[in-house]
Amino acid sequence: MRTSRIGAAFAGIAIAALALTACNSGTPGSTGSEGEGDGTTSENPWEVATDVSIDGSPTFDAISSRGSVKVGVKEDQPGLGYLDPTTNERTGFDVDIARWIAASLGYDEDKIEFQAIPSANREQAIINGDIDYYVGTYSITDERKQQISFAGPYFITGQGLLVAADNDTITGKDSLTADDVVCSATGSTSIQRIKDETPAQTKEYDTYSTCVEDLKNGQVDAVTTDEAILIGYAAQDPDNLKVVGDVFSEERYGVGLAKGDTALQEFINTMFTDGGDTWQAIFDKNLGASGVSAEQPAVDPVE
Ligand code: GLU
Repeated sequence: MRTSRIGAAFAGIAIAALALTACNSGTPGSTGSEGEGDGTTSENPWEVATDVSIDGSPTFDAISSRGSVKVGVKEDQPGLGYLDPTTNERTGFDVDIARWIAASLGYDEDKIEFQAIPSANREQAIINGDIDYYVGTYSITDERKQQISFAGPYFITGQGLLVAADNDTITGKDSLTADDVVCSATGSTSIQRIKDETPAQTKEYDTYSTCVEDLKNGQVDAVTTDEAILIGYAAQDPDNLKVVGDVFSEERYGVGLAKGDTALQEFINTMFTDGGDTWQAIFDKNLGASGVSAEQPAVDPVE
């Protein structure tokens, strides 16, 4: 640890204030009223499909015989994957992407079983069949592709740093020293990059929200993960937290699937590619005012 000096937190507060609007504007997807005969609801920009069949997808076969969809998500990442502890409502860009996929497979909100799975346990949950697919700030990497497959990408962000609002010594990745303690999630690309590319000490937990608590209590100097995630935390406490520096990686978010289920991979990729305005509507609803950049990426070829 090193003592941070009282400094200019203005930029961080400005970003966070923007993001605050986004975090408070998310509406739950489960309570929409029926739209004008097109199968959509007034709140959800997707339709629940009927008579879906996907030849050659073991995952879809399992979903069909079960009659419900099991989805892995995060639930402590505001704006992306969040479970409100008082209302019990799930909100966020990733959660809505997961709902859109379920709807395209023919399953409405009441047929989705969400499970919170931390970064380190995602591959194993997919391999075990505990979930049918995972949508939660899950970067597509070659290492992970040895164990699972990904549809997408559906979003691109990059790694950043979250520090106390009065810290003016940590200004970006290259400012980190051996005196700094940087917190991140076990099993993430974020913690690995800090270990590989900086002299900083590291501390890890299952979740980023635990790191944020440590940062607020002065136990660590910074939290690192994708900027899209960090902006959500800063927005919750703009007086005390700020995002600093340029992003220093490219994180391409994919939908985690059972390895080799190319039929489902292709189905979801086609949904992303031919989805019209749905992606943009989901983005605008959840992250539109956050300051996160907003372009839908092209999907990777199916492999
Ligand atoms: N996107 C990074 C990863 O997949 C960090 C965020 C996360 O842990 O979900 O490792």
